[in-house]
Amino acid sequence: MKTTTRVAVIGGGVVGCSVLYHLTKLGWSDVMLIERSELTSGSTWHAAGGFHTLNGDTNMAALQGYTIKLYKELEEITGLSCGLHHVGGVTLADNRDRFDMLLAERAKHRYMGLETEIVTPEEIARIAPVTNTDGILGGLYDPLDGHLDPSGTTHAYAKAARMAGAVIETHCHVHETNQRPDGTWDVVTAKGTIHAEHLVNAAGLWAREVAAMAGIYLPLHPMEHQYIVTGEVPEIAAIIDAGGEHPHVMDPAGESYLRQEGRGLCIGFYEQPCRSWAVDGTPWNFGHELLPDDFDKIEDSIEFAYRRFPALGRAGVKSVIHGPFTFAPDGNPLVGPVPGLRNYWSACAVMAGFSQGGGVGLMLAQWMTAGECERDVSAMDVARYGDWITPGYTRPKVIENYQKRFSVSYPNEELPAARPFRRTPMYDLFDQHGAVWGHQYGLEVANYFAKDDEPRFETPSFRRSNAFAATAREVKAVREAVGINEVQNFGKYLVRGAAARAWLDRIMAGTIPQPGRLALNPMLSTMGRIIGDFTVACRDETTFQLTASYGAQAYHMRWFEQNAQAGVSIENISDRLTGFQIAGPKARDVLAACTDADVAGLRFMGLMHASVGMVDCLIQRVSFTGDLGYEIYCDPMAQRSLWDLLWREGQAHGMKPFGMRAMMSLRLDKFFGAWLHEYGPDYTPAETGLDRFIRFSKQADFIGRAAAEAERQSGPARRLAAFEVTAGDTDVNAYEPVWIDGKVQGFCTSGGYSHHAGKSIALALIPSQMARPGLEAQIEILGEMRPARLITTPLFDADGARMRG
Ligand SMILES: Cc1cc2nc3c(=O)[nH]c(=O)nc-3n(C[C@H](O)[C@H](O)[C@H](O)COP(=O)(O)OP(=O)(O)OC[C@H]3O[C@@H](n4cnc5c(N)ncnc54)[C@H](O)[C@@H]3O)c2cc1C
Repeated sequence: MKTTTRVAVIGGGVVGCSVLYHLTKLGWSDVMLIERSELTSGSTWHAAGGFHTLNGDTNMAALQGYTIKLYKELEEITGLSCGLHHVGGVTLADNRDRFDMLLAERAKHRYMGLETEIVTPEEIARIAPVTNTDGILGGLYDPLDGHLDPSGTTHAYAKAARMAGAVIETHCHVHETNQRPDGTWDVVTAKGTIHAEHLVNAAGLWAREVAAMAGIYLPLHPMEHQYIVTGEVPEIAAIIDAGGEHPHVMDPAGESYLRQEGRGLCIGFYEQPCRSWAVDGTPWNFGHELLPDDFDKIEDSIEFAYRRFPALGRAGVKSVIHGPFTFAPDGNPLVGPVPGLRNYWSACAVMAGFSQGGGVGLMLAQWMTAGECERDVSAMDVARYGDWITPGYTRPKVIENYQKRFSVSYPNEELPAARPFRRTPMYDLFDQHGAVWGHQYGLEVANYFAKDDEPRFETPSFRRSNAFAATAREVKAVREAVGINEVQNFGKYLVRGAAARAWLDRIMAGTIPQPGRLALNPMLSTMGRIIGDFTVACRDETTFQLTASYGAQAYHMRWFEQNAQAGVSIENISDRLTGFQIAGPKARDVLAACTDADVAGLRFMGLMHASVGMVDCLIQRVSFTGDLGYEIYCDPMAQRSLWDLLWREGQAHGMKPFGMRAMMSLRLDKFFGAWLHEYGPDYTPAETGLDRFIRFSKQADFIGRAAAEAERQSGPARRLAAFEVTAGDTDVNAYEPVWIDGKVQGFCTSGGYSHHAGKSIALALIPSQMARPGLEAQIEILGEMRPARLITTPLFDADGARMRG
């Protein structure tokens, strides 16, 4: 057996084989896959083999598109058949919200180049004749949908990898993974020890157990899943005899997917009375067996399916496939370098291996060979969960995700399972103030504050929700008096040491401020993509505090550790430092009433230490609301004391608490971008305007400099622009296409309602040469063309006098 390798991939399911193939495709041929049994011995062998592009995240959808197009390439390279049936598929909508969701998906597909189409009930009855279309409003047809042979496809990946030099060792159980001090790995197997530079966990059903060998917990859990194969269905037989094939039908109302199988049908269910599997761990002796049939839990689903597809009821059940597969809490894969461990990569929790496996393999291989991926993979980055994650959180979330697999996903929806989990000292108090809670990176965050006679639940909707009035009140309080909100949900880092400034100068693209000052700083990847949007504060020459998005903590710490330097310590202090932000014209008066410190002397983008009442605080004069504002940081143990004082003094000035909904509206007044909306790895500083914070004149060779300079020379092909939209009752959310002169020329990154200006606003990327004030465009929102006009003057405090004054 080969005993040294550049990469050891553990697991020979569809995902491990795809990773192996893509590593060879990108030029790494000294790679090896280790499988405890035969290839496909986990979830892979009993998959129904369906594939589709539909995914709420556009990058995931694009990667699913890549996966599907890859199969032909595999067949050509290897001469093996993947058993492809490109039959197309239609997703049904039986109510307005579902139809809205399909319209929004279709709109996104326009600029992604996916040829989906909205179809009428009559068209559905024609293309998918086994469907009873009673009560159906329409559907989304995707010509790329289809199914394949799971085993043939996995072997095709494996053969293509072998042909390029990869080695596959089957019947070779991995028992231990031990890291050497130099970061490489000893993989202890039944056949001996393999020394690998990199290790990939693609162990599917056993990914938890394999992770535990390296002392880590990966948040995934297996669920039981069942599909039924029928005997011959005359309608299907007739289609086949006429040389045709029946398309897939996804029926979200019935939580089912249906396709042709032989001369009959095959239907699978995401049933509500679902069950998680192997709570205490996946048995090592589980392999090619199935779980016992369980008709009880799918009884309601079957009944529904018999009404939607009457032919099923007449056909009789030929066989039942009931097996387990794994999910992460949000249903997306867990991919990438595992934070805190060198050279350990995750390719786990891929719940749709035949839709996503190719994209997962490509992205991981790019990450390993080039250091970063060509697109933003945040939706599947293993770092989207921090070390707060536990099995007790994962399991109910996974169950919730399974149950909601076919539900409408609303942009404003807050899912309830495993909550409330992490709370600040303010939780009960804010609750008394009517907080309606949201959820960020495990933390409860106030979205808005309802009045006593208003519901304490935001209605999930594609249109303006019942949070509208409360958000308007909070915006008014900020713009006319003063608002208060926690700063717990900011990611915070302490960078210390003699070399701290030099390190920051290399890591950040902007100005590293002098003591007592703040500076906004883009952080760039080597390819010049935006991987962070930071406020850097200089406490003293060797101590800096950074703030950024709370949800990006593990992502940012992983980057900092990968780029660590002797003489610099970097600590994530996000949960060790909390406090409040106050913003609005009266913010200064409130703060001045609470401290003897020279509040009036603190300039915009300044920083000072002060006692506020009894509490030792660090105060930064900056605000994402675009208003006069302060971020006041303190020890969590003192947060309630700080609140008591600020709130008491605030009352004379009309202080009101405000939540995230108001914050996102306020920032729109100034066209401020937000993390993973405008600022993220899909975009560059020049495209988004963050280049104004890059300090090209600094000596330091900051990461991403060459790419940023090249783009400065050439100019970006597209630019972020703000639009005022004639929006009806539905504002832009994200990814709506922008039509200019009858063609889709761009897409929205985010948007919403500016309660201050009383206008609907969209931020969008459009071709640079078109970005001129007054440009008339149309934005397609839920299938309707909405007139939009490009605006350049901020809707509030255009000259910054209030913010800086
Ligand atoms: C009933 C059912 C129907 C499904 N239908 C579809 C569908 O229509 N379309 C779709 O896209 N997906 C479907 N899926 C999901 C699909 O099966 C999974 O997404 C996919 O198989 C995951 O592949 P994987 O490679 O990640 O994991 P697995 O297939 O579980 O592979 C993991 C491999 O790792 C090996 N391994 C584990 N531990 C070790 C060790 N210590 N040493 C060596 N080797 C080890 C295992 O033996 C196994 O071969 C279905 C799943 C089920 C249960």
